[in-house]
Amino acid sequence: MSNPSSEKIWLSSPHMGAKEFEFVKEAFDTNWIAPLGPHVNGFETDLKTYLGNNVHVAALSAGTAAIHLALILLDVKADDEVLCQSFTFSASANPITYLGAKPVFIDSEKDTWNMCPELLEQAIIERSAAGKKPKAIIPVHLYGMPAKIERIMEIADKYDIPVIEDAAEALGSSSHGQRLGTFGKMGILSFNGNKIITTSGGGALVAGDETIIQKATFLATQARDAAPHYQHSHIGYNYRMSNVSAGIGRGQMVVLDERIAQRRNNFLFYKEALKDIPGISFVEEPAGAFSNRWLTTVIIEPSETGGITREDIRIALEKNNIESRPLWKPMHLQPVFKNCLSYTNGVSETLFENGLCLPSGSNLTTQQLSTIVEIIKQLFR
Ligand SMILES: *Cc1c(COP(=O)(O)O)cnc(C)c1O
Repeated sequence: MSNPSSEKIWLSSPHMGAKEFEFVKEAFDTNWIAPLGPHVNGFETDLKTYLGNNVHVAALSAGTAAIHLALILLDVKADDEVLCQSFTFSASANPITYLGAKPVFIDSEKDTWNMCPELLEQAIIERSAAGKKPKAIIPVHLYGMPAKIERIMEIADKYDIPVIEDAAEALGSSSHGQRLGTFGKMGILSFNGNKIITTSGGGALVAGDETIIQKATFLATQARDAAPHYQHSHIGYNYRMSNVSAGIGRGQMVVLDERIAQRRNNFLFYKEALKDIPGISFVEEPAGAFSNRWLTTVIIEPSETGGITREDIRIALEKNNIESRPLWKPMHLQPVFKNCLSYTNGVSETLFENGLCLPSGSNLTTQQLSTIVEIIKQLFR
């Protein structure tokens, strides 16, 4: 079995619905091409309604920009420490360094692969005792799987440290019925090209407190004071989403729940098809958790597969023009963060060693999924 079409199968490619182009055309027809405009407000309202829990939303140019603004609004400054999940994409941690502050990395727990609450509390106690009480906590809902967010919020509240919830990969996921991104003092979303929905590039900041969103919007539009001339009493940023991008976003919101269903079906397909192969396992939703299954991830345990590794699978797929990718390399192992403190337990290192993200786009056909599974099974024959 090989990939019968010469067409590349991507890890997670954009998937447009029927309405995106109509919204974009409307932007063109009304000449709302400049940043701001009615689609930006419309997209924010769509997100607000979807997320529920009375949150407010600012549409921005990227998820990374949203984290940067969140840290600024929490007054994070040079030499401050921010606790950040180690097992994540670098964009969760990079904005900490934009402010001259220092990330302290927290390893994961085994159930959800996200921030370990015990290590989090240990880090808070130890760093506070050292006179460096953390200024913020950034947990991540990786691959759409909810972190143990209720427990993390309890700990954060106990020590009075604000949480920035990185829900970049988890739009539509929920924990005990509450949508992710709405638990922390602030939450962030991403609409980059490979995320569950895309605006071709974009992000959002979410907060229950409307004044936070007003301040974020002000900073994101060059911090211009109310005056007829250009008057500035703060340093500003050019971080607002454009009206054209927001038009794509409004179209994508129409199909978001369908996209989640399609991604969840990918997961079920892979799980069913690979269930009899020893040494291949999947991460399950703990009670109360609902994952958007942004990417289907598998763990390949070479001691149980007869020596077959995740690299064997990745390379076999690659030879057939099929993209798969190792799980995120933890931040505490990244050269750029080698001087940062970390609280580790080995969980994310093992996940990185043995884990693989399988093609997970919502536009995959059953034929393509079958091809992928057959190539994997062939390795085990
Ligand atoms: C994609 C992503 C981001 C950054 O979002 P951008 O919109 O690409 O800037 C942040 N955190 C995580 C976990 C992500 O996957």
